[in-house]
Amino acid sequence: MEPLDRSTIWPYDERGEPREFHYQRHASPTVVAAEEALGRLDGGTALLFPSGAGATTALALALLEPGDTIALAEGCYYGTGVTFAALGRWGLRVVEFDQTGPPPEGVQLVWVEAPSNPFLTVPDLEAAAAHPAPVVVDATVATPIRLRPLEHGADYVLHSATKYLAGHDDALLGVVVCRDAAAAEELRTFRTRTGIVAAPDPAWLLLRGLKTLELRVRRQTETARVLAERLAAHPAVEIARYPGFGGLISFDVADAETARRVETSTRVIVNATSLGGVTTLLESRRRWEGERVPAGLLRLSVGLEDADVLWADLEQALG
Ligand code: PLP
Repeated sequence: MEPLDRSTIWPYDERGEPREFHYQRHASPTVVAAEEALGRLDGGTALLFPSGAGATTALALALLEPGDTIALAEGCYYGTGVTFAALGRWGLRVVEFDQTGPPPEGVQLVWVEAPSNPFLTVPDLEAAAAHPAPVVVDATVATPIRLRPLEHGADYVLHSATKYLAGHDDALLGVVVCRDAAAAEELRTFRTRTGIVAAPDPAWLLLRGLKTLELRVRRQTETARVLAERLAAHPAVEIARYPGFGGLISFDVADAETARRVETSTRVIVNATSLGGVTTLLESRRRWEGERVPAGLLRLSVGLEDADVLWADLEQALG
């Protein structure tokens, strides 16, 4: 394994000049090792942040001016809209649009999600790339195993590395991968100045998680395909959403009360938030997102357990 270096300082060289590493807010070896691995995965220059939301904040503040507008994919991760709303006081505006079509004119940044969490719509990346504004693709749910948005004309890829990339529900991190090296340098300077910097310990856990990313995502996809098919055919399920790849499914049962009964009746599947880890998780999204989601919507993040064991658990809970 790459070493875990927790130092916040390193000595200057014999001439009294700073070396590559001198103060952790600028750069640190374990974080740089993780960034190099992430850059290779997405085909760009990666910068690590302390969370996905931190990466979102840094990117918006670094790229935009007060009065600028972001075209945000409707039905994407609700927390992204919450983060942007918190920046509204500083002059940031948001318009929502249907990401399966072209983004609206007159915006300074386009923000799509591949696929959206929890509605699992897939953005039209070609239409987004044709827009004159820079394009950010939050590819947390797709992962670079399934999608490399920079190859489809995106300018920035964002991941909550807390999810599939780290993969074990024990590290909170975010990453922005930039297509353009000069843009990455600007973002790096902004990150150093604002101090929105990832720590070495979670970066080391991320490095370890990345070694099994492909295996995990492949297995989660195989299992999710089976479960999505069975859920769609179950009489208690009104609609099952699955984009055909990845480990995330959402499905609707009759109402909020039924959803609560289902999520609290599983025995193997854990009733908890988040996604992308080795443990299968189920939760009603109403508790967080309110009216924005159907009352009976349940989000299922498929882990590494046996598909038949997971189906038996879902079946008894739906029953
Ligand atoms: N983007 C997506 C698609 C997410 O699902 C999440 C978290 O759930 C985030 C961003 C925010 O990431 P974090 O929780 O690491 O701040």
